[in-house]
Amino acid sequence: MKYIGIDIGGMSAKAGLVNELGEIVAKRTVETDKGTDTVEFIANMVHLTVDLLTDCSLTLDDIGGIGLGFPGSIADEAGVVRYCCNLNLKNVEFVKLFRSGLDFQKTIKISNDANCAVLAEAKYGGAKGAKDVLMFTIGTGIGTGIISGGHLITGNISAGSEGGHTTLYVGGEPCGCGRKGCFEAYASATALINQTKAAVLKNPTSLLAEAVEKGGLNGKVAFDCAEKGDRAAMEVVDRYIKYLGEGIVNFCNIFYPEIVLIGGGVSNQGDSLIKPLQSFVDTNVYGKEYNPKIKVTKAVLGNDAGIIGASLLCTL
Ligand SMILES: [Zn+2]
Repeated sequence: MKYIGIDIGGMSAKAGLVNELGEIVAKRTVETDKGTDTVEFIANMVHLTVDLLTDCSLTLDDIGGIGLGFPGSIADEAGVVRYCCNLNLKNVEFVKLFRSGLDFQKTIKISNDANCAVLAEAKYGGAKGAKDVLMFTIGTGIGTGIISGGHLITGNISAGSEGGHTTLYVGGEPCGCGRKGCFEAYASATALINQTKAAVLKNPTSLLAEAVEKGGLNGKVAFDCAEKGDRAAMEVVDRYIKYLGEGIVNFCNIFYPEIVLIGGGVSNQGDSLIKPLQSFVDTNVYGKEYNPKIKVTKAVLGNDAGIIGASLLCTL
């Protein structure tokens, strides 16, 4: 049976028809915008679904269900989108409204996008077959996906698993959530860019400053310059890996996973990020002398994880 998975973001919604092997056999994208009201947003998702099926010469009768992943706070069981800061959705009875707009009687499921990503990676990707998996998606913030004992952990009314908002530094950097010192305020791509900017101001004659002057600020430039031996860049990278490592070890000490997956743009650094993180986890995790080694690796499904994972919501 095929399912539709829709990965909704602040800029676009990507729908895919996913087969029994977890492969996306057809894809279609539509733009999303914070200015779009709820009624129009739901109509857009209905059209996206119908258009995808039309592309494949299929109808709603040919699919087993539809899953949707949102970048926000979702009440999975109730089918309610509580809040998405990059979309104009607040306490929307999404499943009910989407179902009636589509006139579809089979399964419709929704969840947070980080949950979808870890489901996909644990079934078909970097953690295939593992029952205890932590996934950290590093972008504007840090999304955490937790599978423990084969179960997706989301907390009461799916309000939990917001690992980016656990404190790394009491009274530290302000976070978008209103607290200070959150993990994501130190280890997101946004934080890495801010740390790079501060290093450039402090070291105006460094290779890092020169590279930023030429190519602008991004989450990659510090890694590139560190590889060339620039001291200012190496300091940024070493400190960033420590922040990320400390946050990851906190979660490892609670869930003790088999595998830690790193996703999001920063994971494209590959070995220059993964190797030192692996060594940080090896050195710092509680009970390291006696317990199995925790493997740290890059997520492999990339942007497709959101679509594949959303489709998997229907099979939970
Ligand atoms: Zn926070």
